[in-house]
Amino acid sequence: MIGEAEIAAAVRVLRSGRVVQGPEVAAFEEEFSELVAGRACVAVNSGTSALQLSLMALGIGPGDEVVVPSFSFAASANAVRLVGADPVFADITPGTYCLDPLAASAMIGPRTAAIMPVHLYGHPAPMDQLMELAARHGLAVLEDACQAHGATLHGRPVGSFGEAGCFSFYPTKNMHALEGGIISTGDPHLARTLRLLRNQGMEQRYENEIVGANMRMTDVAAAVGREQLKQLPAWTEQRRANAKVLDSHIEGLSVPHEADGARHVYHQYTVRIPGGLRDSVQQDLARQGIGSTVYYPTPIHRLRPYQGQGRPSLPETDRAAAEVLSLPVHPTLAQAELERIAQAVSDAGGVR
Ligand SMILES: *Cc1c(COP(=O)(O)O)cnc(C)c1O
Repeated sequence: MIGEAEIAAAVRVLRSGRVVQGPEVAAFEEEFSELVAGRACVAVNSGTSALQLSLMALGIGPGDEVVVPSFSFAASANAVRLVGADPVFADITPGTYCLDPLAASAMIGPRTAAIMPVHLYGHPAPMDQLMELAARHGLAVLEDACQAHGATLHGRPVGSFGEAGCFSFYPTKNMHALEGGIISTGDPHLARTLRLLRNQGMEQRYENEIVGANMRMTDVAAAVGREQLKQLPAWTEQRRANAKVLDSHIEGLSVPHEADGARHVYHQYTVRIPGGLRDSVQQDLARQGIGSTVYYPTPIHRLRPYQGQGRPSLPETDRAAAEVLSLPVHPTLAQAELERIAQAVSDAGGVR
């Protein structure tokens, strides 16, 4: 959504003449840090850049392996490949679609440098077990929180567990900044390295300290992001309320699970439609004017760039890819519309 407040903020920045990584970016970083328990935040130009830069800052590169779920958006694994490291795919827990700590543990080997849990659909990954696993093996933890702005586990926000937490501000996410991303970290040294890496290795102009990239956020993006951030708490509450309505009206299908202590922010509201019926249910809904989406029809390990990596056995990942269907849950939906969606999906795919 781009409302009048976002348009006014963008115009204000354009008129100011300070358009790249200026005061708006600094203010956005400051304000976003409240969402990650006060951790330092470094804004960049996308969620993918946030992941890539975090891996670089952690010194992960050729010869290293990073354990990632295959049931995610390709960006999770792409970031690993972009720094020259190898993603190693681990299976998910069927209820939450997040990395299974036991499966992740089985993939740890001598070259493993980090674990990248993905808080998929807005549900927090099991960070207690994953942090413990990482500590036991001396691994870094990089959270892909690109879908989970404001999600918490036992009251602690995602993006505040690992060495780095990465968020995306792409327009389809729970909040956006046209394009953009942010990295949260509790380590001031890592924060400084990230700031250098996003801007050609410079803190002072032309005093380049290290080799860096250009992954700066514009002030226009930051100003839009600041307006969105103000609305995020209300939008999140509305998403959760919408999910409750869907939960209580959907019959005969398994609805999203919220683990003990987890606060799901419902970036997606995803049901399972077993028995090979998912695609026909989706078509049925489309005929009634209800848009639904499959995230993701092809697990990353089956995408062309990743097919060469042996043949990992990821049964829960494959099953999820065949059965998941995400229904509308966005904050602007009216109660009657939610009930109509719930009724339609129950009629089309529910077991009665
Ligand atoms: C959106 C997304 C990304 C990438 O963010 P961009 O801003 O599009 O680069 C990474 N991981 C996950 C899980 C995402 O959903």
